[in-house]
Amino acid sequence: MGRTIPLEEEEKEEVEGTAAAADADRDELTMMMRDFLAATGGCAVVDGGLATELEAHGADLNDPLWSAKCLLTSPHLIRQVHLDYLHSGANIILTASYQATIQGFLSKGFSPHESENLLRKSVLIALEARDLFHQKHHPHHHPVFVAASIGSYGAYLADGSEYSGDYGQSVTLDTLKDFHRRRVQVLAQAGPDILAFETTPNKLEAQAYAEILEEGDVKIPAWFSFNSKDGVNVVSGDSLLDCAAIADACSKVVAVGINCTPPRFIHGLILSLKKVTKKPILIYPNSGERYDPDKKEWVASTGVTDDDFVSYVTVWRQAGAALIGGCCRTTPNTIRAITRSLNKQSFVLICREYHQLSSENK
Ligand SMILES: [Zn+2]
Repeated sequence: MGRTIPLEEEEKEEVEGTAAAADADRDELTMMMRDFLAATGGCAVVDGGLATELEAHGADLNDPLWSAKCLLTSPHLIRQVHLDYLHSGANIILTASYQATIQGFLSKGFSPHESENLLRKSVLIALEARDLFHQKHHPHHHPVFVAASIGSYGAYLADGSEYSGDYGQSVTLDTLKDFHRRRVQVLAQAGPDILAFETTPNKLEAQAYAEILEEGDVKIPAWFSFNSKDGVNVVSGDSLLDCAAIADACSKVVAVGINCTPPRFIHGLILSLKKVTKKPILIYPNSGERYDPDKKEWVASTGVTDDDFVSYVTVWRQAGAALIGGCCRTTPNTIRAITRSLNKQSFVLICREYHQLSSENK
């Protein structure tokens, strides 16, 4: 039969159909996050620093691949750190893929196939840790999401530029999309619950993530998390409000937040985020120490103790944070203290035996 609908109208219907499908996707992903948060009692606990803990277990991370190096050399240590965080009360564990990129593995001599397998492995290790944990703690009592960590282009460069957001003029939106696209697909297909875009230092990269998610056939939700060194803007100097607005507009994004930022800035940043988004707010600050990109080490500046850190938790929760954890230099002790201050006392008691045993084994 010939066309009965004029082309323009057909195109319009197609556009409307696509928009309706995007709305349905958005609703489904939003509900998924809402159900998860409800199951955690309203506020989910995110895990803490991975690199610090791997080093504490004896891993040598002196390599541009950083914590991703352990995917090769000591996956059992990664699994152990995931378990330590789960037993400290974490509802969300982040995979060891922050600095794991296809390009990084290729430059180390791995084939494209091997490189993609290493990315998948980061997710599989976290899924395995969750399975082990849920053999003891029923998922109904302690739900756990596996979040596939995606560091910025600067994290791949390993020159500290994720703390400046300055990639130079030659890096365009397309450069960033081309850099991240395949990695996002591989990680999403490996079976995590959510994609965690972390330590996002500038607006251009947030835009690249949003476009990859909207263009691609990614079926799982994502969060966008930014870092700030002045408590107002993201580290590049781009407006946090502009960055958060990109996250808010992306149908796949179900939480927007701040990570790897000193605790003292977090309260103000939560209030800023609330001006541009109604999506759940996520925060996982660092310990307050400062990263020196030249020396490639953390220097104590206005560092806070676990007790100081945790004294903020109630304030952050009251200000509207719905996912709270720690970033660099925080430990299972920090996460246990967060769990406790969110009134998840019973969980901490249940896991006390685990921690006694694991500290005896050290
Ligand atoms: Zn960090």
